[in-house]
Amino acid sequence: MIILKGGVCVTPEGLVRADVAIDGDKIARVAPEGVVPGEGDEVRDVSGCWVFPGFIDGHTHMQCWTGMDWTADSFETGTRAAVCGGTTTIVDYATADRGVTLPEALDEWHRRADGTCAGNYAFHMAVTEWNDRNRADLRAMRDAGVTSFKTYLAYDHLRLTDAETLEIMEALRDLDGVLCVHCENGDVVNALQRRVLEQGITGPEGHPLSRPAEAEADAVSRLLYLAHLAGDAKVNVVHLSSAMGLEAVRAAKARGQENIFVETCPQYLTLDDTRYLEQGEDGFAGAKYVMSPPLRKPSDVRALRGALLGGEIDTVATDHCSFNLHGQKDRGRGAFTKIPNGGPGVEHRPVVMATTFEGELGPEDLCRLMSENPAKLFGMWPEKGRLAAGADADVCVWDPSARWTIEAATQHQAVDYTPWEGFEAHGRAKLVYVNGVLAAEDGEPTGAVAGRYVPRH
Ligand SMILES: [Zn+2]
Repeated sequence: MIILKGGVCVTPEGLVRADVAIDGDKIARVAPEGVVPGEGDEVRDVSGCWVFPGFIDGHTHMQCWTGMDWTADSFETGTRAAVCGGTTTIVDYATADRGVTLPEALDEWHRRADGTCAGNYAFHMAVTEWNDRNRADLRAMRDAGVTSFKTYLAYDHLRLTDAETLEIMEALRDLDGVLCVHCENGDVVNALQRRVLEQGITGPEGHPLSRPAEAEADAVSRLLYLAHLAGDAKVNVVHLSSAMGLEAVRAAKARGQENIFVETCPQYLTLDDTRYLEQGEDGFAGAKYVMSPPLRKPSDVRALRGALLGGEIDTVATDHCSFNLHGQKDRGRGAFTKIPNGGPGVEHRPVVMATTFEGELGPEDLCRLMSENPAKLFGMWPEKGRLAAGADADVCVWDPSARWTIEAATQHQAVDYTPWEGFEAHGRAKLVYVNGVLAAEDGEPTGAVAGRYVPRH
């Protein structure tokens, strides 16, 4: 057994000073009275540390073609970076492009991920066309452990119509599935992209002008009315970025909808749209922040932080979708619409959250937002998201006293920048176990490839 001795454990019952015993791939005991080591047991002193159930990132895009380019991170590099930061499970978006069936897409994502992952992985399934075949295959997906789906209200090659969005929500309601939705009004974005380019604004600063908060709020509002029409269908508004979008969520909750879940991401809680003016060495550094939805105004950041502290946000995920600035994003030099959308974050989410909300969110809050709630929403509870006897031995031992600086030069994400370059980090994942195997120590990978596919229920 592995015995983690003397830490403060973040358990469903609250903070408990206890020893944790790991036996194989399960947690054997969380023992306030202590565990007496037997012969052959490995003891690690974790006094001064918080012991979390491994963090879960419910929104990543590894090793995929997004319409403009392949992402920089593979499942191998992405999950390795994740475990270095304390994240032991990702839920990645498999995507069935038009003409591809859902089972074919799931097979393809397994081909990409299986056998290469340092951390655990599960798949959502993005549905980009609505037809009888895909409708019939939802049940097969559920039987294969895929209980959450995604649709888009923007991007012409991905989006469904409003009527199709309604129908898939109704179909998923019968299967007790959850629909995650990218909320932006695609028609408005298309028109504003043309208008901004015609005005001669071609650099990264054109990106937020073409995707205003109103386009998000309209789509959030429309989605939540459709969910109401579908009998209060279970929906997860992903990467909420704006105060206006938040108002739309509040309106739906005020009319009694209870099956609404809200995700936001560290970038929308810490960065604002002044970043698009960043020049860097070659005048194009603003492209680092070209992601959709875009970074917003400081007032939006304040509103989302308040909502998070007020308990209105259920999960914090990354939307990790990395592209190199040099060789990928800079191909959009002539037009911001050609910059691949997305940014890295899977490695740094726990520390950015712990640091930026230091004194405001305690370890139990961090656990709820980044482990427990995603486990519950996505059908992994109580095996994951819970530090308790019988749960999976995915464990993150966190040293809150560690001090270090986030830098692209030392990160493990396979990309040439980080949006948090120079960020003074408070805390660090000291020991990270995946299925009982030490996957990372003091922010460095051990080389273990212990990740498994997580079929969900
Ligand atoms: Zn995404």
